[in-house]
Amino acid sequence: MYLGSVRFFKHLILTIVALLIIVPTVIAVSTGADNAAKEDEISRLKALVASYGKFYEEAANGASEELYYAYMEFFGIDKGKFFQLLYEKDPSLLGALGEGATPGGSGDPDDSDARPGGSTAPDMTADINSSAPKNTVSEPPEPPEPPAYEALFPDLYVDGRADEPDYIDDSDYIYLTFDDGPSVNTAEILSYLKYFDVPATFFVIPGENSQKSLNRILDEGHAIGVHSATHDYAEIYSSVEAFLTDFKAAYDLIYEQTGHKPEIFRFPGGSINDFNGAVRSDIIAEMTRRGFAYFDWNVDIKDINGASWDAMMKTARAQVAANTEMGQRSIILMHDRNGGENTVYVLDEMIEELINNPNNYKFGKIDGNVRPMHH
Ligand SMILES: [Zn+2]
Repeated sequence: MYLGSVRFFKHLILTIVALLIIVPTVIAVSTGADNAAKEDEISRLKALVASYGKFYEEAANGASEELYYAYMEFFGIDKGKFFQLLYEKDPSLLGALGEGATPGGSGDPDDSDARPGGSTAPDMTADINSSAPKNTVSEPPEPPEPPAYEALFPDLYVDGRADEPDYIDDSDYIYLTFDDGPSVNTAEILSYLKYFDVPATFFVIPGENSQKSLNRILDEGHAIGVHSATHDYAEIYSSVEAFLTDFKAAYDLIYEQTGHKPEIFRFPGGSINDFNGAVRSDIIAEMTRRGFAYFDWNVDIKDINGASWDAMMKTARAQVAANTEMGQRSIILMHDRNGGENTVYVLDEMIEELINNPNNYKFGKIDGNVRPMHH
């Protein structure tokens, strides 16, 4: 039984000693003690540690940096977190403790082994060389190696999007979005939008011949986001590198043809689909790191699933109303693709009905200032 055992009391005593030493130390550090005071503190700690046996002698005879590592080891404090804490409180202390000391600790495999309190401190009788070899405790934690794909396409970054608190997120907004264009239907879709004077957002698959359509989309006040270059799910979701390669090709075409650098995108198949389970979170993290924002939807009229005019109208009406009920804006998924006449077929009556809705919806286009919507 652990409670009441000799081992328990030993650990209890060590924990109390730990608190007596560490608390004043951290306080001294965090109150910005000057260098002389730090030296004094380090000397005091050395003297204290030296009195606690072989394990501590070893640490006390080493560099002051090692001493701190010995403390962390002994008192069960996570190395990375401890250095992070020191760094946040007073970066100069890290310098005082040794050149190589750097904050961050997730690269150290020991860091996942959180050992709160002193109850799991190394046994005093344990062999110092096997339980805490000096060359292990003296190594500062290394930051993890960044994934190789972070170095791909060094120009593929955007900035200037709104900060989160400034996002547009009004519940009375409706965003019409069209995926997969341009197509033979783009001109007709644009004509309806112009007729009703409402903006929309096109997540495009640009091609050799898309220049005219893309420029007309922008010239008429709509937004363009990246959808894909190939729209080949199996290919683009085979790895983060494959996704970036496809994205870059589409992004470059849009830029070459319009001079516009999109800051938004929509995942082919949406952010959660049957093809991207293995790479989804890595792709999202990487695209977010590069400054891009992605948008899913919360209204799907199933225009490419052969829905009837009546069904599409009913779906739009019901899902927009449900979003309004929940205090949410609506992002409507539609398509601009060859063979997608169904979309054109329903568009004018749908927009007209939404315009005339007593909720006085506003129509917006999506850019980096709009709060992203994620499935
Ligand atoms: Zn698509």
